[in-house]
Amino acid sequence: MKPIAILGGTFNPIHHGHLRVAIEVKEALDLAEVHLIPLLAPPHREPPKVSAHTRFEMIAAATNDESELIADDREIRRGGISYSVETLRELRAENASTPICMVVGTDAFAHLHTWRDWKELITLAHIVVVHRPGVDLPSDAPANLLLEEFGTDEVADLHASPAGRFMSISIPMLEISSTQIRSILHNGLSPKYLLPKSVLNIIREHELY
Ligand code: ATP
Ligand code: MG
Repeated sequence: MKPIAILGGTFNPIHHGHLRVAIEVKEALDLAEVHLIPLLAPPHREPPKVSAHTRFEMIAAATNDESELIADDREIRRGGISYSVETLRELRAENASTPICMVVGTDAFAHLHTWRDWKELITLAHIVVVHRPGVDLPSDAPANLLLEEFGTDEVADLHASPAGRFMSISIPMLEISSTQIRSILHNGLSPKYLLPKSVLNIIREHELY
């Protein structure tokens, strides 16, 4: 059974950096599908000003023509603070034996040890870290710990078990962030070509950012 992957985030808004990660990871790891999951409320920050529903709507528009990229609103439906561990528990309950890969950028990964029940994550899914421009893998825990104990370079290992392996992969990354896009819009400039046109249409329509 091919693994599925989840890529969680604020997606405020989704951009071509996210979408290329999803496609590159899907191809590099031979995945069945990648679920893009917007968080409802982050644990350590204020919730984004743009509603989760609208952020989800933008993901749905961006992935509309790509059946293996799934806009997944489970964190919105669940309500409350969005903890990845709960999302994985939920997915695991639905698919007992399907391999699941949790994909995170190096920037998100650097804080992994602050996530709720973070040591449980690797028991529920494989963890795949993708290198983000400008952010190197931290030289201390949790990266090294996971690498030493669970690290693999073999894609086959991610297919062979439902969870429990750690992989760091280098794929070509676009130097695009949602912060950059919000600031471009805030300054009355054009973010064209940094994100899909369908997403920009929603931004214009709702006068976001
Ligand atoms: P913001 O600037 O608001 O923080 P962002 O562009 O970082 O937004 P997030 O929603 O925070 O987007 O990111 C979700 C996930 O996607 C994270 O794991 C992050 O590391 C990854 N990611 C986002 N943009 C890129 C990119 N250009 N290249 C690689 N990974 C990315
Ligand atoms: Mg970010």
